[in-house]
Amino acid sequence: MTKTTSENIDATESETTTESALTTARRQLKRAATHVDVDDGVVERLKHPTKVQRVSVPLKRDNGELEVLTGFRAQHDDVRGPYKGGLRYHPEVTADECIGLSMWMTWKCAVMDIPFGGGKGGIAVDPKELSDEEKERLTRRFAEELRDVVGPKQDVPAPDMGTDPQTMAWFMDAYSMQHGETTPGVVTGKPSVIGGSYGREEAPGRSVAIITREAIDYYGWNLDETTVAVQGYGSVGANAARSLDKWGADVVAVSDVNGAILDSEGLDTKSVMGHDERPGMVSGYDAPQRLSNEELLELDVDVLIPAAVGNALTADNADDVQADLIVEGANGPTTFAADSIFEQRDIPVLPDILANAGGVTVSYFEWLQDINRRQWTLDRVNNELESEMLKAWDAVRDEVEAHDVSWRDAAYMVALSRVATAKEERGLWP
Ligand code: NAD
Repeated sequence: MTKTTSENIDATESETTTESALTTARRQLKRAATHVDVDDGVVERLKHPTKVQRVSVPLKRDNGELEVLTGFRAQHDDVRGPYKGGLRYHPEVTADECIGLSMWMTWKCAVMDIPFGGGKGGIAVDPKELSDEEKERLTRRFAEELRDVVGPKQDVPAPDMGTDPQTMAWFMDAYSMQHGETTPGVVTGKPSVIGGSYGREEAPGRSVAIITREAIDYYGWNLDETTVAVQGYGSVGANAARSLDKWGADVVAVSDVNGAILDSEGLDTKSVMGHDERPGMVSGYDAPQRLSNEELLELDVDVLIPAAVGNALTADNADDVQADLIVEGANGPTTFAADSIFEQRDIPVLPDILANAGGVTVSYFEWLQDINRRQWTLDRVNNELESEMLKAWDAVRDEVEAHDVSWRDAAYMVALSRVATAKEERGLWP
């Protein structure tokens, strides 16, 4: 077995303020491979997706006009189990973005030791410009176009940006009609009445809070004396903030797309409405101080949780971040160059593939419930999530301690070793 040599991975090489998910994902893989005893051929294989479906999705608009949209499903790797990952409706969905995000899903499932691989897909469309009826027609047609490549044993989509439990219900219904049997396990993130899991919506935020709590304990701090700022008070951000608030931390600042609010005494996170609960209500909340999103990222707090969008922390603002710990709630909020700056400045970054993996973990629980046709209680979901998160935390922390690497490198080492070992055991089909 040959070890990938440590090439000159210069964080500043071709750094632009933002970079594509695929660029970041490939750089992270290349770097992780320098720390792990993995065959070069396996690493080369993992730079590429197994398959990328590109489909045309005709949509009859409510005014009778026909529009043809483009949809994608990237399937990165399934050596450990069916592909798993979201479907997003967003104007900027591209094949490359789906490939990058599907790679992250491979690592996320592996770091959690879930028997799934990585997938991601979507349609390049602005969902805000679609009526509910148009969204339903679009989703059913997308399910039809993807029918041969998805399925409970093949590829299991979930909600993502611009899609929600209702979208998954339509997708599951269309697939079930095509297959002549009710097949809830084809997607996760469904409404609970048709096989969705209790606790799925709160799970990514809950896992962000669990990882934050463990990291605070690891560094010998006290949660009761910890201040937290959260960028993006949506599903992930609000649930993370509320758990941390409940466990004793002071959530002093949160934001939505319109701006941030600050209360140095700590916000009452239950009374600040999240994006889905009441859009725009964060910036409209009666708080002592208002800030911009940029100012929130640079607050002097103990913990910063970027939970809004990718590329929030870049080479342009990483030097101005004053937090002592960063926990990634969003997918890919830190560019490769920003990551290097935080490493130089000794600011630990708990990576997305560990911190927000509660979402895919409860999706896995949902898939198990669907296959067994038996729903779990919310208590069981939360207890099993807690125990899975602690197992993953322990595995990553062991790598940090054994090899003196960053949390991101450690998480990638755990994930890459599991995927590579599975590939080596199964062998490469000639
Ligand atoms: P959401 O739409 O519920 O919330 C997003 C929040 O971010 C909203 O408050 C919105 O106003 C704010 N926002 C949007 N653009 C912003 C900007 N440019 N600057 C500041 N704030 C902005 O979305 P979510 O489900 O909470 O997802 C957030 C991130 O977490 C995404 O990167 C997503 O991929 C990732 N994620 C989501 C899940 C999940 O299951 N929901 C799981 C894992 C990771």
